[in-house]
Amino acid sequence: MTEIYFDNSATTKVSEKAANAAYRAMTENYGNPSSVHRRGAAAFHELNEARGVFAKCLNVSADELYFTSCGTESDNIVVQGAGKSRGKQGRIIVSSVEHPAVYEPAKRLVSQGCDVRFIDVDKNGIIDLDMLESLLTDDTALVSIMHVNNETGAIQPLSEAGKLIRSKAPLALFHVDAVQSFGRLPISVADWQIDALSISGHKIHAPKGIGMLWLRKERNFPPLMFGGGQERGFRSGTENMSGIMAFAVAAGDCYADMPKYYAGMQQVKDTLCQTLQKLVPDCLVNGAVGDKGAAHILNMSFPGIRSEVMLHSLEAKGLFVSAGSACTSKSSKGSRILAAMGLPESQIDSAIRFSFSRYNTVDQARAAADIIAETIDELSLVKQLGKRKRRN
Ligand code: PLP
Repeated sequence: MTEIYFDNSATTKVSEKAANAAYRAMTENYGNPSSVHRRGAAAFHELNEARGVFAKCLNVSADELYFTSCGTESDNIVVQGAGKSRGKQGRIIVSSVEHPAVYEPAKRLVSQGCDVRFIDVDKNGIIDLDMLESLLTDDTALVSIMHVNNETGAIQPLSEAGKLIRSKAPLALFHVDAVQSFGRLPISVADWQIDALSISGHKIHAPKGIGMLWLRKERNFPPLMFGGGQERGFRSGTENMSGIMAFAVAAGDCYADMPKYYAGMQQVKDTLCQTLQKLVPDCLVNGAVGDKGAAHILNMSFPGIRSEVMLHSLEAKGLFVSAGSACTSKSSKGSRILAAMGLPESQIDSAIRFSFSRYNTVDQARAAADIIAETIDELSLVKQLGKRKRRN
């Protein structure tokens, strides 16, 4: 059975180049960058070269970049670190559709007595800028808004948000979780007027367990992790050199051909969406469409068929998708994101997320649409037979 992997927002396949870079770091240049001998110096040199790749991609200074273990850690450093140190004195504002890596630490701050506010979103999952404006106070300590939503692909209006924040809360630290956009969509820390940015390797064909935080120098706050003083004292712990080397190679690859890869994913998304709309007329698209929705994420509902049932039926035919974000899909609760958008339960319970990478093709999209339509026919038949049996 040929497999179609449309779950790239959960994680991606590691590219061969990234895997080779990781292998080299493990078997050849395996020194500890903190060691003072030749091997250590060679590793330290490679670490700085890798940091330079990200500085170029993001157009920021290399000494404002910190390697972390994942996107979750980067988010937590900001929300817990900045939130704890500055939040006692001021307000914290996050969007209601943040990934749990931001949402959960923000909720913890509520329980610690901080003044945390959540920005509502519209039916497309886009933040309410008027609400953001009304929440901003001159003592706002932290604002965290993601770039691309991991469940719907909604692209948040960060330039507009940045302008509001700078005019109404100039001292606030503005953080963006760009885990779902880095390497696929352009990022502009200058245009967005942000102070901190989180990214992660395994969403862009690097291995799991490597992330990065960009933090503007003037916005520093005390570290959460103490130890050997790595990453200029801000994030202690021996650097994950194999992950870092692979991440840098993967990032370089994404940036080398970003518009081409993006256009390719857009074709895959459009083909899947349009074909499904023809084959399954009562399917629904959840979230932003057009240029307000990222090319690599498509969220659709198939009313009457529960997400988990659909997911496992598709898996049996070699099509891998997700019922929501991978991090929450094992919980029995429906999607918090789709609920925040005000979607009815029937639409939430039947939602499927398709997410693409540069390795996917239009032919796969056509084949996937056929598999989905066939599966819906089969599941509907089973349902009808079940109903008839119960009636008899
Ligand atoms: N933020 C967003 C938007 C994500 O989609 C994810 C992972 O799915 C994370 C943060 C967490 O990243 P990581 O898996 O590297 O911890």
